Amino acid sequence: SKAAGRNTHRFFDPGMQEALHARSSLEIDLRQGLANGELFAHYQAVVDPQGKVHGVEALARWNHPERGAISPVEFIPLAEQTGLILPLGEKILRAACEQLVRWAASEQTAHLSMAVNVSARQFRQLDFAAQVLQILRETGANPRRLRLELTESLLLGDIEGTVARMEELKREGVGFALDDFGTGYSSLAYLKRLPLDQLKIDRGFVRDVLTNPNDAAIVRTVLALADSLDLTVVAEGVETVEQLGFLCLHGCVQFQGYLFGRPGPVGGVEALLDGGA
Ligand code: C2E
Ligand code: CA
Ligand code: CA
Ligand code: CA
Repeated sequence: SKAAGRNTHRFFDPGMQEALHARSSLEIDLRQGLANGELFAHYQAVVDPQGKVHGVEALARWNHPERGAISPVEFIPLAEQTGLILPLGEKILRAACEQLVRWAASEQTAHLSMAVNVSARQFRQLDFAAQVLQILRETGANPRRLRLELTESLLLGDIEGTVARMEELKREGVGFALDDFGTGYSSLAYLKRLPLDQLKIDRGFVRDVLTNPNDAAIVRTVLALADSLDLTVVAEGVETVEQLGFLCLHGCVQFQGYLFGRPGPVGGVEALLDGGA
């Protein structure tokens, strides 16, 4: 009720007031930043054991006029809470598709695939598939080069709806990866029902794969599971040759991480193209 709403301020201490103020001012900045072109995509290479580039993942970036670069870890949750993830997600997807079109024009880059992150808020829109197909049509990008990265939490709940939405895009050639795999709750039965193409092993498991036997066991299990379900695997967050060695030994053939390249402007990825040994 109104009266209750008026009373709630009594429970806010000054720290909470400050936090709320900071959040709402960042929300205003995000809204403005979207309109002003402060948000854009960077790209990180996905490579094979020889360092040959398979494709990239698009990652949203925000250059705030006063605060400089703000991490997606901060602004993506805010964008999700406020609904701004809808225009932001569309912007990143469009930029990614436009990049695919530029790459399609040259023999050296035409094979590259593009992964784009999709948040729950976007995916649950009833016309999500239609929106993606429209952007593909408008840009002229090849749907077969596009892969959408979904998270496990996003897939929980309405499995029929989820599968139907995925199938609508798969019919046109769009692929799907399950991001941050191992951090969520997917049962094997559940995993089998989804028309996925790829699992991405969360970098939390890769980080300590050489020192933590549990993480090593999880990584080996995911690789074996993916093999039996006919899914490709990308190991995320590969930073050392020792991690790479372990992953290769257990059959992983695609990697993403600082060892190969940090996310950056597209030129950084293109420079890697002739660098593969
Ligand atoms: P993610 O999808 O799991 O993306 C991988 C993250 O790992 C990226 O963080 C990337 O910069 C980081 N990373 C890659 N290699 C390494 C490495 O070797 N070591 C370390 N320590 N980190 C590495 P980033 O760019 O900060 O993005 C964080 C998260 O924000 C993403 O995690 C994703 O969940 C979300 N995000 C980013 N862009 C978008 C977007 O356009 N849409 C949506 N919905 N979410 C996004
Ligand atoms: Ca991702
Ligand atoms: Ca991930
Ligand atoms: Ca992650």
